[in-house]
Order: sequence, then C-alpha cells, then structure tokens
Amino acid sequence: MQLSSYVLNMTEQLFDVAIIGAGPNGATLAIGLAQAGLDVAVIDARDPAATPPKDGRNFAIVTGSWRMLESLGVAAQLADTSQPLNGLEATDGGTHYFGHPSVLFTKDDLEGVDPDEPLGHMTMAEPLQAALDGAMTSEPGLQWLAPERFAGVDVQPGRAVIHLESGHDIHAKLLVGADGMNSPVRKAASIPTEGRDYGKSVFTANVALSAPHHGIARQLFTPEGPFATLPLKGDRANLAWYMKRGAAETLAQMPIEQAEAELNQRFAEFAGEMKIEGKAGSYPLILQLATAITAPRIALVGDAARRVNPLAGQGLNQGFRDVAALIEIAQETVRLGGEIGSAQMLETYSAARHFDGAGTALALDAIDRLFSNDSMLTKPVRTLGLLAASKISPLRRYLARKASATEAGVAGPMTDW
Ligand SMILES: Cc1cc2nc3c(=O)[nH]c(=O)nc-3n(C[C@H](O)[C@H](O)[C@H](O)COP(=O)(O)OP(=O)(O)OC[C@H]3O[C@@H](n4cnc5c(N)ncnc54)[C@H](O)[C@@H]3O)c2cc1C
Repeated sequence: MQLSSYVLNMTEQLFDVAIIGAGPNGATLAIGLAQAGLDVAVIDARDPAATPPKDGRNFAIVTGSWRMLESLGVAAQLADTSQPLNGLEATDGGTHYFGHPSVLFTKDDLEGVDPDEPLGHMTMAEPLQAALDGAMTSEPGLQWLAPERFAGVDVQPGRAVIHLESGHDIHAKLLVGADGMNSPVRKAASIPTEGRDYGKSVFTANVALSAPHHGIARQLFTPEGPFATLPLKGDRANLAWYMKRGAAETLAQMPIEQAEAELNQRFAEFAGEMKIEGKAGSYPLILQLATAITAPRIALVGDAARRVNPLAGQGLNQGFRDVAALIEIAQETVRLGGEIGSAQMLETYSAARHFDGAGTALALDAIDRLFSNDSMLTKPVRTLGLLAASKISPLRRYLARKASATEAGVAGPMTDW
C-alpha cells in the first residue's frame, strides 16, 4: 500500500495505537488490537506491493502462540504449509561422546491437553508473513502505511507525535516499537540495552531427510553448541548448526555440494543423509535485552524488547507473548474506562512481561553455556540433567509444558489462548 494523500487527513486523527514494524510481532499485534475495536496505524519500511525477498526462516510456533493465531483467524491460512510438532528429542553428543544419552518429550508428557493438539507447529516465515499481511489488509480499523519509515517521536500530554521520514506526523495515544532488534523506537525513547555477543553464529538450511521425522524436533548438543533438525512438511527439516563466528558464514557461502558434504560428514550418523534445498544462510548469535520495555506513551514488543538465543525456537514465541499481553491489557483498559497509553496501562504491561522475557532469555543463555562446552566439569552435570529429565515424570512434564508454553506464567497472562 502506498502512502497517499489521505494520510494528510490521517495526521489529524488521534489513533489509539501506532505500531512501527509490520513483521510477525507488529502485524499480529495490529490485527489483535483492531479486532478488539481500537483504531490502529501500522508503519513499515517494507513495501507490501514488492516481491518479498527470499526468507528461509522457519519458526517453531508453540501451542500457546498457535492458539493466539487461531483466535485471530490467521492459523487457518497456515495449515497447508505448517508441520505439527509431536515431540522434542535432546541428545548429549560431545565430540567423542556420540548418541547418548537422549531424551524424548512428547505431548504424552503434558497433562490435561487435547490429545489431538500437537506441541506446536513448524511454520515457514514467508507464508506466515503473507497470512498476516492478508489479515491486516482486511481489518477495517487498521491503517497500514508502507513503505514508510519512522523518524522520531515527541511525547506530549496524552499522546505521542510520531514523525515519519516522508515529513508527515501521526498522533497516537500509544506508540509501539515492533521494529526489530535495532529498534529505532527504542533508541528514540533512549532505552539502553544489555547483553552479550556469543561469538558464535548459526548455519541454517532447509534439507530433505532420508528418513521420516514423525514430527520430532531433534537437538544434538555438541561442544561448539547445538545442532538441530526441526521437522518441515514432507520429511524435510530446517536445520540450525551453531558454530564459531566466521565458520558458519564461510560454510553458508560455500558451493551447496561442499556444504552438504561437510554437513553429512559431521551429522549423517545423527540425522541421516541430508540434501540441502535452496540457499543456506547464517546469522550471528546475540543476547540483547532492553533495560526497560516501556517509556512514557511507548511500549516495546518482540525483538525490539529482546533478542534471545534462538535455542528451542523461543525468539518469536517470546514476542507473541508480549503481543498477547498487550492486547489483553489494552482490552482490559478500555473495559474499565481507562486510557490507552496511560502510565497505569504501561506499568501493567511492564510487570506482565519484563520478568518473563528477561528470565527466559537468561535461562536459554545458561542452557547454551552448559551444553556448549566439553569440559570435564559440566559434562557430568548435563548428562545427569538429561538422564534425570528422561526418568523423572514431573520434570519431563515441566519441560514439555515449557516447550509448548501451555502453562500459566509461561504463556504470560494469555493462558486461555
Ligand atoms: C535467521 C534467523 C532465524 C530465526 N529463527 C527463529 C526460529 O526458528 N524461531 C523463532 O522463534 N525465532 C527465530 N528467529 C528470531 C525471529 O526471526 C525474530 O524473533 C522475529 O523475526 C522478530 O519479529 P519482530 O516482528 O519483533 O521483528 P522483525 O521481524 O525484525 O520485524 C521488524 C519490522 O520493523 C520494520 N522496521 C524497522 N525499522 C523501521 C523503521 N525505521 N520504520 C519503519 N519500519 C521499520 C522492518 O521493516 C520489519 O518489518 C530467527 C531470526 C533469524 C535472523
């Protein structure tokens, strides 16, 4: 959609919420808020009319997040391209320690769940974004301005005045930064970040497998870090291989046959023969946490609030929990006659999400440290951990609930989704 002259009229409008970023988090939030009856503006630098660049990412969308997409009417468009996730297998595999022990969590480890409901769904980034774009276009209460860029914000009594690079201003009671890891909104709000660079990168590719995956996601913990195969439709998998910074980048740039040979030499025993489909890629592993997720008239969601180690696919699911919490808090604010974007509403959001987000990020960081080295000290600990997890039922159930995010306190306040 092109920014057009009607924007000049829109600049006189006071939106309830203006969202910068129509990635998976911003778009989902916009749809949810518009369906709740709020006036929403979404601004994104991406041109929806242009052919989207190839995006090989795949998301492990856990049950709690999937229920939110169902309730927003988006999940139905994803049914044909998504792979139900039936279990998660973890194997301790140091260099000289291949194949043992391993532990498998399935939905049988969850109590009181619908037996027909999987642990989650593996969903490709492209159909997910296309389904969200389609849903945004058909929401009457939602104005989507793109391509357009956020340039800055002035906070005035009762509103945020949002400056766009085109020279227009948009007024809203609440400005949401859903603008990714380098969030210009976070920077404009002067919210610092903390975290660390793992000095590692992830090599990713989609592969055809030589054996059926039965919907099981498998992780092998090696001294460099985990190697994972995440099941895709049709006995294919999305794989993630954690390596030292530079190595993943080099491998991703090699001719496909050479990268495939490396892959099979190292992991065919674990995953069977793999054949790379399309283009391989790599990305750096960084933990980045915003020190606050709100500022006056401003809230952050998704990667703008935190960029986590994507181990166990928690990145997008964390963002979806921000989105679910913000929709619920906005609805509650309206129901009680409160003001969208008020200090009270933002405090409620911060209390709901700041701890869960930071806690999960740090837990993933600890798991990564524990499983990413081959020292004599940590190996017995992690081996005992895996054995304990496989033998002790309450622990198995706890881990399965964590993986599918169906428990209160994991899914945030939106446990009915
Ligand atoms: C290679 C890779 C693989 C990943 N795999 C997984 C996975 O398997 N599972 C998982 O859960 N997570 C995964 N992640 C993380 C996941 O991609 C992110 O958590 C998710 O994309 C964050 O979504 P978001 O909507 O918060 O931000 P983004 O997807 O980064 O979207 C931000 C949006 O903001 C817009 N924007 C930015 N600046 C401006 C501006 N100034 N003006 C207007 N618009 C602007 C951009 O155009 C973009 O559309 C992966 C990440 C990478 C890089």
